[in-house]
Amino acid sequence: MDKTLISIVVPMYNEQEMLPLLYQELVKVAAGMDSYDFEFVFVNDGSKDNTLSLMRDLAAKDERVRYVSFSRNFGKEAALYAGLSNAKGDYVATMDADLQDPPELLPQMMALIEETGCDNVASRRVNRKGEPLIRSFCARMFYKLMRRMSEIDIADGARDYRLMSRAMVNSVLSVSEYNRFSKGIFAWVGYETKWLEFENVERTAGETKWSFLKLLHYSIDGIMNFSNTPIRLSSYLGLLLTAVSFVAIIVEVIRALVFGDPVAGWPSLVCIITFIGGIQLFCMGIMGQYISKTYMEVKRRPHYIVKETNCVDADLNH
Ligand code: UDP
Ligand code: MG
Repeated sequence: MDKTLISIVVPMYNEQEMLPLLYQELVKVAAGMDSYDFEFVFVNDGSKDNTLSLMRDLAAKDERVRYVSFSRNFGKEAALYAGLSNAKGDYVATMDADLQDPPELLPQMMALIEETGCDNVASRRVNRKGEPLIRSFCARMFYKLMRRMSEIDIADGARDYRLMSRAMVNSVLSVSEYNRFSKGIFAWVGYETKWLEFENVERTAGETKWSFLKLLHYSIDGIMNFSNTPIRLSSYLGLLLTAVSFVAIIVEVIRALVFGDPVAGWPSLVCIITFIGGIQLFCMGIMGQYISKTYMEVKRRPHYIVKETNCVDADLNH
């Protein structure tokens, strides 16, 4: 009988320092779990360093290594999607290349799945040791807001490190939207999830690919993709302001009739106009965000374009 196949999907962008270290760890873990077969699906997300040639070398040495290389940098979400599309395993794990998602947790994750029969084990870091304080604070605020604003529940500190059954992977792949927010999609598809907690590990080598601004954009995308609350808020705000100004107009008219007083009040008028103008722009901005997302979505462009791969019958653009 064939052994159960576990695929390990790793998106990589400029990870030449990490790839050899990661590969070493993965081989170690695979050796320790000899009742399973493994395949490593490395996705090169348009790296500008030697990541791709390292992948080629590894693939030549080890037939378990499969790689997919993009024609440019499409972002981590696209890389994850490509990895999941090309993974053949009965179970599929996704992890970062920087060893912040400890591969040695895999046996535990697999055991948990076998014991409980759940479809998916996700991981969550219990602290953010070694991370800038302001960054942890913003991250916590984001998860709070996200839970408030959308129906889906994403645990604080949840990583994109998880082990999923084939059924769940297929469901995740069937969510083929262009604007992807994986943490949200994993939660959205449902299935029973067990959480594994671990202490934060700092990046072993190389540097983080996420600037503060990039993270901010990512969080805004996350909220917009899974929630209509912002746009609803903007309509409420509009309604409220209309009501307020209506009352203000009546008050003004009565005041003018009773006291005359033609010029006074000019400064307050300017304040009100700029205030309302600001709110209008803000609300239009929110609407614009949703419209631009719709625009990207209706164009139905592929999520990624593969330039080179050693996967047989790979999805070259999807
Ligand atoms: N990554 C990617 N494409 C990108 C940015 C990042 O594939 O455009 C990969 C990166 O190589 C790593 C993972 O996504 O494997 C997480 O990135 P990183 O460790 O820099 O993020 P952090 O842990 O700092 O949030
Ligand atoms: Mg990292």
